[in-house]
Amino acid sequence: MSKKINILLIYTGGTIGMVKDYPSGTLRAFDFNKLVSNIPELSQLDCEIQSVSFKDPIDSSNMNPSHWVAIATIIEKHYDSHDGFVVLQGSDTMSYSSSALSFMLENLSKPVIFTGSQLPIGDLRTDAKENLITSIQIAALRENNQAVIKEVCLYFEYKLYRANRTTKINAEHFQAFASLNFPALAESGVHLKINRNYLLKHQKNKKLKVHKTMDTNVAIFKLFPGFSRELLQGILNIPNLKALVFETYGAGNAPVDEWLLSDLQEAIKKGLHIVNVTQCSGGSVIMGRYSTSEELRKIHLIDGGDITSEAAITKLMYLLGSGVSHKSFRTIFETSLRGELS
Ligand code: ASP
Repeated sequence: MSKKINILLIYTGGTIGMVKDYPSGTLRAFDFNKLVSNIPELSQLDCEIQSVSFKDPIDSSNMNPSHWVAIATIIEKHYDSHDGFVVLQGSDTMSYSSSALSFMLENLSKPVIFTGSQLPIGDLRTDAKENLITSIQIAALRENNQAVIKEVCLYFEYKLYRANRTTKINAEHFQAFASLNFPALAESGVHLKINRNYLLKHQKNKKLKVHKTMDTNVAIFKLFPGFSRELLQGILNIPNLKALVFETYGAGNAPVDEWLLSDLQEAIKKGLHIVNVTQCSGGSVIMGRYSTSEELRKIHLIDGGDITSEAAITKLMYLLGSGVSHKSFRTIFETSLRGELS
């Protein structure tokens, strides 16, 4: 008899496990055990489900790298005893957490599926049940005694995405996420269709390595027409700032003002890593395509390609935390480590 598949649910908080506080009308987190009792269907799945919960479940807006480390530590602790992991959290910062986890969990050979919902699990019209049940099914998928999915994913509204390709695009629709630069890894309809060609491969014999140091000396600067030199300098002069996501227009373009280029150049000379990332949710930076990006290329901004800002900022935290040398930083950033870049 084949052994039952063990899935670990990690509940961190978010709408999926919230109830309405009627006197104030606000949503607040509730005890995770109630979440399980709200979905008796879970007992019909062909796997064993264990769960752990954050002691104090939180709205994902309150998440920071210490919570990502807590999730990584739970996965590390249960890695040998479980076949797959489903992380429940709020959708607001889910693309950040799941991107971060994709970098923190090197050589992953088991599925880690992030999911949540737009409506609480107890709501009549909830999207939580489908998201949760299908995420568990995906985490439990096996073939030839091996997990089918071997990477960090995000499942929402019938689609499974590579986590570090996603971005939250809607605060209202059930379809809250998009992955505009990479196709969905799976789609749930009458059948669960896995797009195998797009899945990350795992190198055999490589053991899981969990990276727990995330360096938060990073920032994002989003360009807007009319931004002042004072504003930019205020950011570039932040003490200990080590890396900056420079969110540019379109295919990586910025104004060609003399002061802008010289301020950026000086910051780079002083050792700041500046990554050119487009503020568009789809498409790629192509430095040199327009004259408005050619100068950025010449002063050696790091090329963010088609990376999302969520993946860029968490990749910076991870690389800085891993002590990557200054010399190789650009090359490593421009290399796809977990499928985050085309
Ligand atoms: N504010 C909530 C959170 O991110 C929204 C959600 O659960 O989707 O925790």
